[in-house]
Amino acid sequence: MPVSGRDYPRTWDQFLDWFPDEAACRRYLEGIRWRGGFVCPSCGEPGEAFRGSRGRWICRHCRYQCTVTAGTVFDKTRTSLRSWMAAVWYITNQKQGVTALGLQRVLGLGSYQTAWAMLHRLRRAMIRPGRERLSGVVEVDESVIGRSPPNRTSDTEQKQRLVEKVKALQSIVVIAVEVKEPKGFGRIRLRRVSDTSAASVLPFVKDSIEPGSLVRTDGSWAYHKLTKHGYRRDRNVMLDSDDPAHVSMPAVHRVAALLKRWLLGTHQGAVKPKHLDYYLDEFTFRFNRRTSRSRGLLFYRMIEQAVVTEPVTYAQIAGKVKHQI
Ligand SMILES: [Zn+2]
Repeated sequence: MPVSGRDYPRTWDQFLDWFPDEAACRRYLEGIRWRGGFVCPSCGEPGEAFRGSRGRWICRHCRYQCTVTAGTVFDKTRTSLRSWMAAVWYITNQKQGVTALGLQRVLGLGSYQTAWAMLHRLRRAMIRPGRERLSGVVEVDESVIGRSPPNRTSDTEQKQRLVEKVKALQSIVVIAVEVKEPKGFGRIRLRRVSDTSAASVLPFVKDSIEPGSLVRTDGSWAYHKLTKHGYRRDRNVMLDSDDPAHVSMPAVHRVAALLKRWLLGTHQGAVKPKHLDYYLDEFTFRFNRRTSRSRGLLFYRMIEQAVVTEPVTYAQIAGKVKHQI
């Protein structure tokens, strides 16, 4: 278990003491990436490496040269490591998350695009590969994210086009929430799916929930075969209720409401469907650590994941022209 003040700074003042320059940031990343000592990314040989110029390491076996950032989220960055560390600190210390504009201002970055791309790279470090699946009692249901089209039937072609446009910006997200007894929620998992069929939701359940768990769903046919995959199913069919506030999946309903509020609030509803997956990762990261008392520990965990997360280019993120981050 990492210790506050020994493995990560406790406060912003400590942060400034720990990371006065690039060399200090590099040493910190090296300590986390090569905890058990240097391992050559090329030949895989462990052991002492020569220190080259500008933070380079040279493998004694194969003479491969690399830096601690090679092959990580910080790969080939034009932004200082100090700014990256400050970005991680800022992101993990803001309970509701940050926008690219907010990050640009706080770090004094030259361009909005740089801040935007940094945030997207870091979102990719928020989900740990091989993380444990949910277990116990788990509610599962889908929710539609995005603005709802106007209710009135559209009489003109123009209005019809508007409805189509709004619909194109909607996404279906399947949500799984651990339900605790007697009350409260545990961890969550989210995934954008193309439709609500069994072919879309079953793979999510299998990836996200431990077999043997009690899975609470509505009457949807999509979950019909859960028991065949080793789950116990609690089919919760909404009965006619006089209470208008009654919902059949209260945990999913609550998480969906928080997710929508976060997308509308922090991100002002501007998230495009093609980027939604990464925002879902960030929301999951924040939700599952909502009770964490130590923000410094979140900083440490994110750095830890950032040095094992594959690099991604601006072109891959934006799907357009290359831009230096
Ligand atoms: Zn080597």
